[in-house]
Amino acid sequence: MAKVTLPDGKVLDIQDNSTLYNVAEKIGAGLAKAALAAEVNGQVVDLSTPVTQDIKINIITAKSPGGLEILRHSCAHVMAEAIYSLWPSTQLVYGPTVEDGFYYDIDLDTPIRPEDFEKIEKKMAEIVEKNQPFVRKEFSREQALAHVVGNKYKVDNANRAQGDTISFYSHGDGFEDLCRGPHVPSTGKIGFFKIMSVAGAYWHGDAKEKMLQRVYGTAWATKKELDDYLFRLEEAKKRDHRFLGKQLDIYSVNDDIGPGLILWHQKGSLIRHIIETFWKEEHLKRGYDIMYTPHIATEVIYKKSGHLEKYADMMYSPMKIDEQNYYLKPMNCPGHYMIYNNSPRSYRDLPMRFCELGMVYRYEPSGTLHGMLRVRGFTQDDAHTFCTPDQLGKEIDLILELMHYMMTTFGYTYKAYLATRPAKFLGTEEEWARATEELRMAMERRGLAYEVDEGGGVFYAPKIDIKLIDSLGREWQGPTHQVDLQAAKRFNIRYVGADNQLHEPVIIHRTVLGSMERFIGGLIEHYGGNFPLWLSPEQMRVLTISEKTNDYAMKLQQSFKAEGLRCGLDTSPEKVGAKILRGHNEKLPYMIVVGPKEAETQSVNVRIRGTNESKSVSADAFVAAMKEKVKSRTADLGL
Ligand SMILES: [Zn+2]
Ligand SMILES: [Zn+2]
Repeated sequence: MAKVTLPDGKVLDIQDNSTLYNVAEKIGAGLAKAALAAEVNGQVVDLSTPVTQDIKINIITAKSPGGLEILRHSCAHVMAEAIYSLWPSTQLVYGPTVEDGFYYDIDLDTPIRPEDFEKIEKKMAEIVEKNQPFVRKEFSREQALAHVVGNKYKVDNANRAQGDTISFYSHGDGFEDLCRGPHVPSTGKIGFFKIMSVAGAYWHGDAKEKMLQRVYGTAWATKKELDDYLFRLEEAKKRDHRFLGKQLDIYSVNDDIGPGLILWHQKGSLIRHIIETFWKEEHLKRGYDIMYTPHIATEVIYKKSGHLEKYADMMYSPMKIDEQNYYLKPMNCPGHYMIYNNSPRSYRDLPMRFCELGMVYRYEPSGTLHGMLRVRGFTQDDAHTFCTPDQLGKEIDLILELMHYMMTTFGYTYKAYLATRPAKFLGTEEEWARATEELRMAMERRGLAYEVDEGGGVFYAPKIDIKLIDSLGREWQGPTHQVDLQAAKRFNIRYVGADNQLHEPVIIHRTVLGSMERFIGGLIEHYGGNFPLWLSPEQMRVLTISEKTNDYAMKLQQSFKAEGLRCGLDTSPEKVGAKILRGHNEKLPYMIVVGPKEAETQSVNVRIRGTNESKSVSADAFVAAMKEKVKSRTADLGL
């Protein structure tokens, strides 16, 4: 008899020769059915593992952390078996999980084509149908190497495997693969899957090695989860900001200007202007000062800041001006420090909050550049707060409030992470503990749920990282708020305290949007190009049915513009259907079709984006509704 302790502390007596699956059965039939693996004394193992001593156990299902990964990795094995049975000359390399799925690298001279996916999936379905157990066999290292002799990939895998025993798993009709495990109990438990794509991949990513085929798949516990995932993927493709950025004429990148450098077109610039105006107003309301600093600075400042020592590889080569080296700025901080240091500061001056929409330049390898999201020049919505240690908590409150207000205005929800002291850090443990505690308490005061990212802070600061969750449920890197423990020392930043002595202020670096490029790129995808009224470059367009109503149409446009609305006009001789289609492709919030009836009654017939209906309202009522929507920044277009 062995004693098995469950997560809730309950202890079960388990008979000899029982497996972990038997334990799951004893807990409940439902759990046994859902069980995929088990965590025993902190290690995840197969359910077929025998219970030989007293243990602590946690049964893993697809809903447990790590549960889906086991399901997906097991699915990779089933896919490998299917491919192997269809192309027996296949040599299997390895099949790890990736975000939302898995892949298997195979060495096969016949190229696998997308047309083959269905055939592979059908074979996989047969293997699932048979519901064969995953059987684990353990070998000594020597036996294992003898077992895989002649298969260079498996010999390599065996050589890379850790520990003295090496395990093999078999399932199906004699199919076997070297693997550490764990796996689901049987092939019937791999959930709902789909093969997604195939790509070339070098063995171990080494271009000198043979090009292998990497077959990607996805697997989910339920059909609904799979369908939802495929829908999100399809939707994400349609919303890709690079595609919509072109369709909506928002931005471009030009090779002669340089990769990773965004050219903002008229509409993109207007959207950015609106967001920047909103941003500035909200900062002024909260006691920030708006700053401007130069794009280049001498090496003196970047030696002082430590950038040349620590971040030289992300900075661009210097340019020589009057025998001195100048660099493009990779960060805005030093400029703000120099403004602070330009005058003596007293505790009565604090807190001081400097904010700047500051363009910075950082090197990114060309392979990692991605539309507006990963660029070489970007505009941080930066700010630095200088405050006394006593003011720190309140200042973090203010930042979290502003961040929350901005994020919810744009319709994002978000997750917060508290990134704590890394292994290598500057300053004392006490300073770190105090600053980290201030961040933690501020989140708790707001009732903001957060996760701790242990050791995730930067070497000079603990921080709060915000991840945005967009309308498709995807996570985006968002703002960060750092409590800097080093800058004041490095730049000799001081204030005179009430005691008439010099003290170091605490400095908070923070962004709220991150960068304008990244934020607006993300926003395009978040809204799918359907910007709410307040952000739409062209909020409405008047379309004429015939030239008889041109005068009324022009008069309408003029009156809307006079009210501050961004109204376009289409009096081209085309059919109204063609004009509507064009407006539809431009994702205009409203199209106003005017014919003789509207001209006579001084009304407008409004087509609302995203609906099939059109509504007749008086021109005055329409203007009033528009102004209200812009003011409230609502995403709702309903009239
Ligand atoms: Zn495996
Ligand atoms: Zn900074």
